[in-house]
Amino acid sequence: MTLAVKSKPYIIPEYSLTGDLLSYQTCGLQYRYQNRGALPPSIPVQLWFGEFIHGVMEEAYKTWRTDPASFRFPWSWEGEIRAIEMNVNRRLKAKGLRRPPRLFCPYDETMNTPGTCPDADHPHKLLASRRAEAAINTWGPHLFPLIDNAEVKLKGCREMISYQEGVHRSNYYGIKGIVDVISSVSIERVHAGNLIHHYINANPEIRAMIDELSSLDYEIIIDYKGMRRPPVYLSQSVRNLTWNAHEWQVLTYAWLRSRQVDAQRPIAGIIFYLNELVPSADDIANLKQELRDGLTDIQPTGRMDKQTLAKWKRGSKKSALSPELREQRCIRLIPITEERRQQSLRAFDEVVAEIENSIVQEMRRGSIQGCWRPNPVEKTCTACDFKHICPAVKGRYRMSVL
Ligand code: SF4
Ligand SMILES: [Zn+2]
Repeated sequence: MTLAVKSKPYIIPEYSLTGDLLSYQTCGLQYRYQNRGALPPSIPVQLWFGEFIHGVMEEAYKTWRTDPASFRFPWSWEGEIRAIEMNVNRRLKAKGLRRPPRLFCPYDETMNTPGTCPDADHPHKLLASRRAEAAINTWGPHLFPLIDNAEVKLKGCREMISYQEGVHRSNYYGIKGIVDVISSVSIERVHAGNLIHHYINANPEIRAMIDELSSLDYEIIIDYKGMRRPPVYLSQSVRNLTWNAHEWQVLTYAWLRSRQVDAQRPIAGIIFYLNELVPSADDIANLKQELRDGLTDIQPTGRMDKQTLAKWKRGSKKSALSPELREQRCIRLIPITEERRQQSLRAFDEVVAEIENSIVQEMRRGSIQGCWRPNPVEKTCTACDFKHICPAVKGRYRMSVL
């Protein structure tokens, strides 16, 4: 009797835009060490806050939805928001995500020592809490009534470009992502004073698309980011990859979403850069620099903001930018056109092909180095856990012995 030879398992590699592609673009070698080796980075400040603010917005929405009449805005931090924050913090801790010190107070009034806080007068409304409160009260009243679906899982399949039989793992790859919110906007249902509707209408490209729609319903795809608004350019002529990648993310989600049966036409993406609502001293210093160099898109127009920024120095007491400027810097609108969507998918295909080629090379050579493209940019390298073994920055960083 001859036994049939078991064929090789057919694997369709799956890529997530945030987990794989954006991190690969930042630095291919770091991505390899970090993601494919499944080692989480050791200082996940941004990761913690990103997860925290997502969790808080999601839970705030669910709380509001149970009874919108009793949960009127603005919410008070002590009354409504603190309980949500504590729940989210507990969940993050259970997932192994530790909050960075001085960003969030995890204690209640029963704790009588300072812990990681400045004193024992808990709970403290530290930066993460001030941002959570501002995010809920600025956008909640306008956004929550528009939400149809929160945390929607999206999946799709694409052909692998430059596939070679016997060389690459598969001729298809999967894309997956979780979109924070999908809002189905019915023009008839939107309240006249709705701030999100106002921003959508103020964008001429999106406005023109709405005017052309045959139906009165459309969708917007919404993503929260626990970060400041990235500059559009890194220098006079170099576009910022992160800025581009966020647009790319929304467009890819729009493509995945448009293939689901219950979808209306997605016409715009909105990204909320939630740190902008309560900027830290570093954020203001970065903003000043970006304005001086002409790298950011949303600039102060009011006299007060211009003066505040001109006079601002590290340690200045007065650093409050106007609510209008903070709000405008927080919201980014991305029109979803067919052409843009196609471009983003092509870019996705190309990056996946690059990653798959690196995998093939690594399997052939049996070593990581030389197969994955490093991207030695000072800011990323300084925070990188692999800088001491990375050949691209050899000798630039000294090992500190504690
Ligand atoms: S040190 Fe810099 S170039 Fe090297 S892996 Fe880390 S981020 Fe990439
Ligand atoms: Zn505290």
